[in-house]
Amino acid sequence: MSKLPNITTSIFTVMSKMAIEYNAINLSQGFPNFPVDEKLTAIVAKLANEDIHQYTPMAGFPPLLSKIATLVKDSYQRNILPETEILVTTGATQGIFTSIQALVENNDEVLILDPSYDCYEAPVLLCNAKPVRVSLNEDYTPNWETIESACSEKTKMIIINNPHNPTGKILTETDFEALEKLLEKFPRIILLSDEVYEYITFEQKHISIHTRKSLRNRAVVVSSFGKTFHITGWKIGYVVAPEHLMREIKKVHQFLVFSVNSLSQAAISEYLDIVSVVEIGGFYQQKRDYFRQLLSKSRFKLLPCEGTYFQVVSYEDISNENDVDFCKHLITEHGVAAIPISNFYENGKDLHLIRFCFAKDNPTLEEAARRLCAI
Ligand code: PMP
Ligand code: GLN
Repeated sequence: MSKLPNITTSIFTVMSKMAIEYNAINLSQGFPNFPVDEKLTAIVAKLANEDIHQYTPMAGFPPLLSKIATLVKDSYQRNILPETEILVTTGATQGIFTSIQALVENNDEVLILDPSYDCYEAPVLLCNAKPVRVSLNEDYTPNWETIESACSEKTKMIIINNPHNPTGKILTETDFEALEKLLEKFPRIILLSDEVYEYITFEQKHISIHTRKSLRNRAVVVSSFGKTFHITGWKIGYVVAPEHLMREIKKVHQFLVFSVNSLSQAAISEYLDIVSVVEIGGFYQQKRDYFRQLLSKSRFKLLPCEGTYFQVVSYEDISNENDVDFCKHLITEHGVAAIPISNFYENGKDLHLIRFCFAKDNPTLEEAARRLCAI
């Protein structure tokens, strides 16, 4: 018996494990390989000797909750109440899981766009609810007509991910206007907005649900300090939701984890006083441009990348293999690990596309590109 018969080991685990086995350059699972800001590690070292090792209050370390409110205010001009509208979570993953568990009921339908990151479906299934996949257009823009036709009185939630993993696509003003119109017709639907790459955008500015007055009072917005501060292993993020939704989310949170790691909450709280999130986009834009320039000499075709630290490429001029086999051979024969895009589709659609993570130091990107250009 299995509660999740069709869920298998995540592709990120599979590819990272293979990368280690074959000593390949790991551009598969998304995580930075450069050192963490020394100012942050200094704060951790200092705090380790302070009285910060016991449970924090359930929803989060109070100074951190206030700093998150300030961050959201500074970034999006939204006022949120630290005591009632913010929850610190063990990464965005737990924020998403907890919100779905708290808000989705038996037989509800939850709209998930196709392709999508992999952490939405399992929590929906565990609620005995139905994930309904709706295809994005070929250029990965949402098709609001198809989305609307998939909505019914059964629909409880729509999950969006902006900037989008794996395609790096960013939603536009026109998208938000369409979404607003659509949701006006369906008062029951809650929006779950996964914005973990909110600060990793380039030419086009990120539009957050935090800035949309008519949406934010029915939305759960999920953020990740792991992405924003290059500390994915810390597993710390937060959820912002109006009080009537947050009340339910906290009920689940208190029995799933109760409270999040105290040292990391205190460290981030102090770090938020001295760090600027506005520089992150420029930092990754340089990486994106450098990696794209390095790959321009290869036989891979580069798709646009508007945000996130992922570059999707087509290998159709190189091989006819399916993308999973291609990625395996890329590791075993060429020493570079990537993620096959078929894994982000409900039915494993193979378009001969793979995803590289460019959150790496320049020597790593250069050596990876040298290997990829030789194919
Ligand atoms: N959502 C998306 C789109 C992601 O790419 C990730 C990647 N890790 C997560 C959620 C989970 O974030 P966290 O590591 O903070 O749990
Ligand atoms: N979000 C990361 C990625 O897309 C993976 C995180 C994980 O392995 N769970 O690569």
